[in-house]
Amino acid sequence: MLKSPLKILQQYWKHNSFKPLQEEIIASVLEGEDTFALLPTGGGKSICFQVPALIKEGICIVISPLIALMQDQVLHLQQKNIKAIALPSGIKYSELDTLLDNCIYGNYKFLYLSPERLQQDIVQERLKQMNINLIAVDEAHCISQWGNDFRPSYKKIEVLRKIHPAVPVIALTASATKEVVDDIVAELDLFQPKIFKQSFFRSNLGYRVENVIDKKYKLTQILDQYPGTSIVYVRNRKSAVELSDFLNESGYLATYYHGGVDAQEKTKRFNQWLKEEIRVMVATNAFGMGIDKPNVRTVIHYTIPESIESYFQEAGRAGRDGKPSFAYLLKNTNDNQRLHNQFIKVLPGIDEVKLVYRKLCNYFQISYGEGEQTIHNFEFNTFCKTYELNTLITYNTLQFLDRCGVIRFMQRYTKKSSVHI
Ligand code: ADP
Ligand code: MG
Repeated sequence: MLKSPLKILQQYWKHNSFKPLQEEIIASVLEGEDTFALLPTGGGKSICFQVPALIKEGICIVISPLIALMQDQVLHLQQKNIKAIALPSGIKYSELDTLLDNCIYGNYKFLYLSPERLQQDIVQERLKQMNINLIAVDEAHCISQWGNDFRPSYKKIEVLRKIHPAVPVIALTASATKEVVDDIVAELDLFQPKIFKQSFFRSNLGYRVENVIDKKYKLTQILDQYPGTSIVYVRNRKSAVELSDFLNESGYLATYYHGGVDAQEKTKRFNQWLKEEIRVMVATNAFGMGIDKPNVRTVIHYTIPESIESYFQEAGRAGRDGKPSFAYLLKNTNDNQRLHNQFIKVLPGIDEVKLVYRKLCNYFQISYGEGEQTIHNFEFNTFCKTYELNTLITYNTLQFLDRCGVIRFMQRYTKKSSVHI
């Protein structure tokens, strides 16, 4: 007889009960339905595909955007004596061959892949031979241009569907805006999916906006008032370094994290912060996906973030353990002015919109007839050069057009898979 989901949870994870919606999601997957899990970060999405995959015969294919996330999950599974592998980048063909063989003949339960790997011929060939029980698309919002983490290759995951049309798909994400959800359903070609959405209300999290003159002083006050681990979000790399220095000089153990810090150093700092050798992580939005530290007591935004969605995601990293925690947003009159200016700057005038739109249509017809194309940065530059357009202004106009849905319309019209600017 098949084991029940609860038995599996207890046996491998040693948890006694499910978190909200996990049980319902697992049941839907076991019934063979396409399923959509919208749970906040830390809501326990991994278990939603791992438990049913362990119950069913065969192997579960997991698509994940970051090698660090894959390795972390694979390690956790292996520690439970569950056979799982990730296909790292940069391995030799022969190694790849062996690893894929294991998935066909070796009773493996989980194969983690990046969407880029999935495009390789050898990978697709071997996938055809595998007895796949479930396709899990983690961080599924990467498929949508409306999200912050758009990844063009996510749009090609559909190929798995074509190889194994009968295998159910589960999409998992913490981004729940309607546009993102619609995109995911369409791009993954989900069939009458069962959508499970958990309320994102966080009763243990206090949100505060503070109008202050001296942000540094306020920051130290908050840190004094609420002991425990903290994240301070800043707007750019320079501020990350400066503020981290300031905190250290003022007696708070801090470090910084941004896109320019090299990978090894990033891991080192992240781990020091995890182990609480360092209390405060001063970071740009590069400190994002995959942070799962339950006892972050304060998330402080030193400047106003770009969008309300990113604010919510970032602030939501506080208090995962359910204990009282605080999200502070510090602002002053300069911030108000900056936001106002930014807003004005990104809105192009109507004449300019018309001009860029006309040229864009023109350019599309000349450069792309059929097939799948992506406008990458260099193509964008060529486009600007061709028409002697100011790059910055054009960029803003295109973003504006994108927001109005014009670019999406053109995509459909020109059969393009993505326009990534
Ligand atoms: P998400 O992907 O939604 O951000 P994860 O799958 O990474 O969340 O899980 C977050 C944490 O919650 C992990 O440490 C996981 O072990 C824990 N967790 C998941 N399900 C349960 C459960 N039923 N009971 C207790 N802890 C759980
Ligand atoms: Mg996750």
